[in-house]
Amino acid sequence: MKIVLLGPPGAGKGTQADLISEKYRIPKISTGDLLRATANAGTPLGKKAKEYMNRGLLVPDDVLIELIKEKLKEKSMKKGFILDGFPRTLAQAEALQKLIKGFVVIQIDLSDEEITKRLSGRRMCKCGSSYHIESIPPAKDGVCDKCGCTLYQRDDDKEEVIRKRLDVYRKETAPLVEFYRKRGLLRVVDGSKGKDKIFGEMRGIAESI
Ligand code: AMP
Repeated sequence: MKIVLLGPPGAGKGTQADLISEKYRIPKISTGDLLRATANAGTPLGKKAKEYMNRGLLVPDDVLIELIKEKLKEKSMKKGFILDGFPRTLAQAEALQKLIKGFVVIQIDLSDEEITKRLSGRRMCKCGSSYHIESIPPAKDGVCDKCGCTLYQRDDDKEEVIRKRLDVYRKETAPLVEFYRKRGLLRVVDGSKGKDKIFGEMRGIAESI
């Protein structure tokens, strides 16, 4: 089972990718997570990537294509995977066409207004848990329910960076919807529905592949 998730930042791609990964026991590849890990490691590449990410810009295509190429070679990818956050440009989509076959693309769609609300209220924990100050608040303000660590806001979830990320999405990534529709690979789900409803639709699509 090979699934590519498409959609604006904050549409719930990460949450759905986790659910699919757990249900079908396939690895999730999140390029955002991979880049953040590289950035935290403080390597020269990581430092460079962080500069782009903190400004809401895309990290250059050659870096991402190489990253995905290497990742897809891993043995754990043999029986399938779910891609979250790649491709984000036409050049990346074209590179992916050469790397994998037999996949489906699921677009999770959401309005700019809802995205801004979701992202600006998002709070993260270093254990990987994610919260929202209004819709998924932790039991104790600012503290992770699972591990007790202090929650933080991603630098790129600040309002001015969110606006930039949305601009970049509309300009660079939205054209991929047409790219995949033309190739008969696109399925669309409405991201404004609840997490469980979306997951139900995602399962229907995954099981029809
Ligand atoms: P995400 O966690 O998916 O929202 O990604 C966070 C940031 O990582 C993005 O705003 C980009 O700066 C960078 N990034 C993640 N995936 C890609 C990609 N496929 N191409 C370029 N930059 C990416």
